[in-house]
Amino acid sequence: MSEIGLHHVTAFSGPAGRNVDFYTRVLGLRLVKKTVNFDDPGTYHLYYGDAAGRPGTILTFFPIEHAARGRAGIGETQETAFAVPRASIGWWAHRLVATGVEHDALVRVFDEPVLRFRDPDGTALALVGVEGDAGTGAVWDGSDVPAEHAIRGLHGVTLLLAEAGPTGAILTDVFGFREVGRDGGATRFAGSAALGGVVTLRAVGSFLPGRPGAGSVHHVAFRAPDDAAQAAMVERLAAGHGIAATEQRDRSYFRSVYFREPGGVLFEIATDAPGFAVDEPADDLGGALKLPAGLERMRAEIEAVLPAVTPARAGRPLAEV
Ligand code: ZN
Repeated sequence: MSEIGLHHVTAFSGPAGRNVDFYTRVLGLRLVKKTVNFDDPGTYHLYYGDAAGRPGTILTFFPIEHAARGRAGIGETQETAFAVPRASIGWWAHRLVATGVEHDALVRVFDEPVLRFRDPDGTALALVGVEGDAGTGAVWDGSDVPAEHAIRGLHGVTLLLAEAGPTGAILTDVFGFREVGRDGGATRFAGSAALGGVVTLRAVGSFLPGRPGAGSVHHVAFRAPDDAAQAAMVERLAAGHGIAATEQRDRSYFRSVYFREPGGVLFEIATDAPGFAVDEPADDLGGALKLPAGLERMRAEIEAVLPAVTPARAGRPLAEV
């Protein structure tokens, strides 16, 4: 059955080494792919996710060593949230304190406990305590975070918009989400996926637009099970909303089209296949720098400009990171 939800979220960050340390050590995610920005091969494209790198668990970064900070505003993602077991929220509050990460007081949003914090570049993150197993299928056990508390994958994103209606129509008509609740100025939509199945639209009227930079999300990608389903979404987008998506682009691990939704956020539609094990064994995900065939002839030059990064692993001293 096709899953309705997020495929991945992609953001800008500062130094790659600090980014890898935060997501693999503090949050205990698996670095599932170390490649380059296909549109700017002198820059890494780092993918974090669960053990298998399944759609709905993926957060990716374009790290730029001396990047200026972005500024939050309308037409962009306000918060990216991960799902953890509800009973683990207290453990995570301790974890953040123990690792020197400030967090806000625990709040309830749409009747779920939410712990908000930021990564070293100011990226707004949250952990949401969810009922049930929330997808325990591929929990990464290679970090210091015990598997029982591990991040299961994405919970969802909150988009900051001038108005919610036009974006909500895209979510329902094109992707098949349904509206499930309203809380103040926020409208929540849910898809069928257990991970990455939540999109919340926060409408604030006129406000400063966001400015891209370190700590800001570049785009939000939605799942399509295959090329035919992706083409059908593109058709609905054009016929029902007068929006043209780009031509399909081969991103090695999925095939993608992009479009700017009416609220100003860059949306992507990414196929579930072929996935991250297409160019390295599933057990070795994230181990080596992977390049698409067209960039292999430039490998030496690319490796010369990229800083070395080493994901944290359980039991390995921090000094190695
Ligand atoms: Zn993407």
